[in-house]
Amino acid sequence: MNEAIQLEFCRFGGNHVGPNLLITAGVHGDEYLPMLAVGELIRRFDSDDRLRRELRGTLTLIPVVNRSAYHAGRRVGDDGRDLARTCPGRQDGTVTERVAYALSRQIAEADFYIDLHSGGTELCVLPLAGYMLHANSAILQRQRKVACVFGLPFVWGTSAELQGRSLSVARDAGVPAIYIEYLGAHRELSELSGGAFASAGINHPLLTGCLNVMRHFEMLPGAIQRCDDQQVAEDWRVGSGHMQVSHPAPTGGFLTLKVKLGQRVSCGELLAEIESLFGGEKHAVVAEQDGTVVMLREYPRINEGDSVAVIVETGEQS
Ligand SMILES: [Zn+2]
Repeated sequence: MNEAIQLEFCRFGGNHVGPNLLITAGVHGDEYLPMLAVGELIRRFDSDDRLRRELRGTLTLIPVVNRSAYHAGRRVGDDGRDLARTCPGRQDGTVTERVAYALSRQIAEADFYIDLHSGGTELCVLPLAGYMLHANSAILQRQRKVACVFGLPFVWGTSAELQGRSLSVARDAGVPAIYIEYLGAHRELSELSGGAFASAGINHPLLTGCLNVMRHFEMLPGAIQRCDDQQVAEDWRVGSGHMQVSHPAPTGGFLTLKVKLGQRVSCGELLAEIESLFGGEKHAVVAEQDGTVVMLREYPRINEGDSVAVIVETGEQS
């Protein structure tokens, strides 16, 4: 029987009554800004007595959930499985199944759960807070509110039918939850090389968001920093929110983008072209609907079937 996996976590508080908030990063092994944001939260609570004294409730932080994927520098672990398709996992399964099992137990103990992601090595996502359109309206409202409070420019409610995710476990356990996406690809690396977490005086949006949620729950004192021009979109279609299958590449090759992240596009508009390195025909990828581009593959090599873009229908600004 394979050995059970214990996730490495840091826990603060517990001395005063309040909720148990779980924040994780590194469900995918190549999403670095979120891991460093959780690491920065650990450093701040470790080094700041006042912050720890003021804390109401319990804060549980896991900076790297999927260690084998992290060590490989890849989205998936040594067994080739995507943790975000493997939950709730198995106690004696493969490495990713065992991590999924351990994560699922942590989620079930939480009162609220935030899972931080980025687009990883190849995708770039508009900074957004997402949630499942939960069948329980009290949980749905709570998730929607917290997604807005996090303070990123885009808020996206999607299908509650998706399986295998950390948020599917939260849904099944009745634990309200949101996930965060924040850029990815070369933009994530350029924020890191620009010192995203270098100064304690300036808060990165991922840190501000986590602190905003804690203030919303009255776990910490202080004012919430609101986002002035936030867009909210809810997509009730089955399968919405599954980024890896949207606008699939008709062929493999070299990808050239024709639109930018955050741009509004119309149905039929050219999103990208794919060409062989040996020249020849250019294959067009066109928008399948009107809306805002919330995800783009920002990596030159593309394989057949890879998702090129995600477009979300957006209404009026909230
Ligand atoms: Zn991810």
